[in-house]
Amino acid sequence: MAAAYKRILLKLSGEALMGDDAYGINQSVVSGIVADVAEVAKLGVEIGVVIGGGNIFRGMAGAASGMDRATADYMGMLATIMNAMALADAFNHAGIGARVQSALRVDQVVEPYIRGRAIRHLEEGRVVIFAAGTGNPFFTTDTAAALRGSEIGAQIVFKATKVDGIYTADPKKDPTATRYTTVTFDEAIARNLQVMDATAFALCRDQRLPIKVFSIFKPGALLRVVKGEDEGTLVHV
Ligand code: UDP
Repeated sequence: MAAAYKRILLKLSGEALMGDDAYGINQSVVSGIVADVAEVAKLGVEIGVVIGGGNIFRGMAGAASGMDRATADYMGMLATIMNAMALADAFNHAGIGARVQSALRVDQVVEPYIRGRAIRHLEEGRVVIFAAGTGNPFFTTDTAAALRGSEIGAQIVFKATKVDGIYTADPKKDPTATRYTTVTFDEAIARNLQVMDATAFALCRDQRLPIKVFSIFKPGALLRVVKGEDEGTLVHV
């Protein structure tokens, strides 16, 4: 089965890189993610990745312990750059061209975010990892995924989570909870389903950019969602 999409934006949380560790980057987890993405790249799909930073530092946690929120958020953005570098390194080791583009300038280490150049990398088959979120405090990397996804003309945002979709209730607490196969943006609001934070959600809805929520820890799930198979939950207009 061929890929259902030509260009995608994959949102990976920082926690996805952590595996079962309490903190930081677990190399075997990173290798697993890279292998999954490699399968998708082989289908000729152009892949942009937005990576989070929650495995290293979250602005909200810094602010809760007394730091200035904006300062803490900039630290969170710096954390995403480290994750992006680790991910790009793993891609390159696996023989897949990857570039990091950062919304905050750290020119000695990674390219700055330049939309046209990012699109060129994608067209040439390189994975582009967007680091430092939106470059602004008070935002999240989910919002960066909605933003970069819109900018590069991705057909869909794949939001990788620990759970394999959106459920009617928390499946850990309620055994009768069932997974939504599809849900509209309006239904998600009416049912108060947590898909992404409000800013990210609103941007995707306005841009008519669908979101597929799936589990990055389920073997083969990324390939299945890219092929448009019944896996995860599709949020659409
Ligand atoms: N962040 C920010 N602006 C952005 C994106 C991220 O200030 O546009 C900061 C924020 O402090 C956040 C941290 O970077 O807590 C890490 O990002 P996020 O929490 O979204 O990562 P994830 O939950 O995906 O690991």
